[in-house]
Amino acid sequence: MDAKAPITQDVLTIPRKAPEGPQNLIGLSRDQMRDALIAAGTSEKQAKMRVGQIWQWIYHWGLRDFEQMTNLSKEYRAMLAETFVIELPEVVTRQISDDGTRKYLVRIAGGHEVEVVYIPETDRGTLCISSQVGCTLTCSFCHTGTQKLVRNLTAAEIVGQVMVARDDLEEWPVPGAPRVEARLLSNIVLMGMGEPLYNFDNVRDAMKIAMDPEGISLSRRRITLSTSGVVPEIARTAAEIGCQLAISFHATTDEVRDRLVPINKRWPLADLLDALRAYPKVSNSERITFEYVMLDGVNDSDADARRLIKLIDGIPAKINLIPFNEWPGAPYKRSSNNRIRAFADIIYNAGYASPVRKPRGEDIMAACGQLKSATERARKSKAQIAQETGL
Ligand code: SAH
Ligand code: SF4
Repeated sequence: MDAKAPITQDVLTIPRKAPEGPQNLIGLSRDQMRDALIAAGTSEKQAKMRVGQIWQWIYHWGLRDFEQMTNLSKEYRAMLAETFVIELPEVVTRQISDDGTRKYLVRIAGGHEVEVVYIPETDRGTLCISSQVGCTLTCSFCHTGTQKLVRNLTAAEIVGQVMVARDDLEEWPVPGAPRVEARLLSNIVLMGMGEPLYNFDNVRDAMKIAMDPEGISLSRRRITLSTSGVVPEIARTAAEIGCQLAISFHATTDEVRDRLVPINKRWPLADLLDALRAYPKVSNSERITFEYVMLDGVNDSDADARRLIKLIDGIPAKINLIPFNEWPGAPYKRSSNNRIRAFADIIYNAGYASPVRKPRGEDIMAACGQLKSATERARKSKAQIAQETGL
């Protein structure tokens, strides 16, 4: 029996349905949309077909206007327009880096802001999305962890991040035009702000929508969820989402991991590794990505590299070494390039792929662990400047 305390989620979750006003169709599962249409007067017999039609308009064609849903009767369109909205988070700013990385600041209900990063590469385009505003966890190297938690994102706000990026990349299909196979937005990583497994249901529902073959239709193999190690939810991720898993591993002893990733005190390495061993079989996925942030003198010795190999023995794995992105006041330093290289070589020689993550979009502060907080800093300094100059 698990004697550990149940997961507490001291996070304010916005109800899926606003108490009054038109309901947003974005973010509803097919079943929820069916229920909503029935509640609005659609007959049970017709509801499934209507969901199919509306779903395609929204998620395949990227339409936002009921009036243009031409396979629905005029009266039905009018009813939809009265009862529902199709609403995405509002894009407040867009920055494009010298290397093509795009960073969007989007505003969600309550005036909160979340950052979304698009990273183009030669063989793919990856969108890094957020699952929470802030994070309840307090990993000592992560700037998001120093922010006060605000709230969980809704499923609409999570899949909405994908949709605003598709809008900006002009990636919705054009009727009559030949189907384009190579996608600009081909991959999603849940590596922005927040711990996705502390917002499980909304993350699952949003990713199900992104994977739905009648819509955005991204393969589950192109979606990677990164977790700090919420062990009980890892099995659920395999069973209910089936996406690729990345784990913020970052240390090879409980003593060091307790300090870097404090959730380790609740679910230490042995429990975490058991859950990871079971993951590929249940989710039928290929490899687990082990994320490992390189912190000077903390977790980057040759002995760490060797321990890491021993610990993950038998798990199909890729090890992603992340040079620490420093932030003002951070209690750590980035490991030297030589140290990172030596660490990577040991791992590579043991037969693992060990790419070192290239920092992308540095000129627009789009790197891991810098999201949102950087914007807040920019604002603060503007405010300070205003104060100093009296403007
Ligand atoms: N909460 C989830 C996902 C978001 S963080 C998680 O922790 O996995 C995405 C990745 O960026 C994680 O591996 C995280 O440990 C890493 N990260 C956070 N801050 C960082 C920093 N300052 N430098 C480098 N990587 C960082
Ligand atoms: Fe939260 Fe992930 Fe940052 Fe840890 S690393 S504080 S889990 S966002």
